[in-house]
Amino acid sequence: MTSPALRRAPAAVFLDRDGVIVQEGDHLHRIADLAFIAGSLAAMRRLNEAGIPICIVTNQAGIAKGLYTEEQYFAFSDAMVEAMRRQQVSVADIRHCPHHPEGVVPRYTRDCDCRKPGTALIESALTAHGWRARDCVLIGDKNSDIEAGLKMGMRTYLVETGHGWEHRDQTQAQHVVCDLAVAVSHLLSSPWKIGDVPSETT
Ligand SMILES: [Mg+2]
Ligand SMILES: [Zn+2]
Repeated sequence: MTSPALRRAPAAVFLDRDGVIVQEGDHLHRIADLAFIAGSLAAMRRLNEAGIPICIVTNQAGIAKGLYTEEQYFAFSDAMVEAMRRQQVSVADIRHCPHHPEGVVPRYTRDCDCRKPGTALIESALTAHGWRARDCVLIGDKNSDIEAGLKMGMRTYLVETGHGWEHRDQTQAQHVVCDLAVAVSHLLSSPWKIGDVPSETT
């Protein structure tokens, strides 16, 4: 039996963008290519209704690689937020890393701390909002996402959408689930206290 007293909602849920919320594309940046993964809008709405803030953290190396500009990234992001808003979904924060060590645009070409599995994007969001990492959940489709969450002491879910099916056999995530909808259902019904990260994979 699960004691309801043990249950506590996460302080925030950190989501990767491409392959978790929207369909992965080859350096996705065209608004015409914006397509939500089935069930992702409804899943985010459930988080909103539960009062759990959503923070998107996304690697956008295509900016450093000269495949699209940071302005194009922002235009895509604005279109995504507007499409979410029309579906009654709101996001507390979106943070991106425009860098890559092998870029072609000098301004963005460097090793950085914010490209996941680096944790600087997550840490800056935690500080800005006053969330404790161990009270948060991270959901991603790559092990670089999962690694960043684990470094911070977060509970992590690898989804099998996007690149998840390629990453699932090597993952350190506490949970492997088919998509964001299942991850959200699971975390909303989780019997453990946030912070008591279970050791076994479910
Ligand atoms: Mg991804
Ligand atoms: Zn960066």
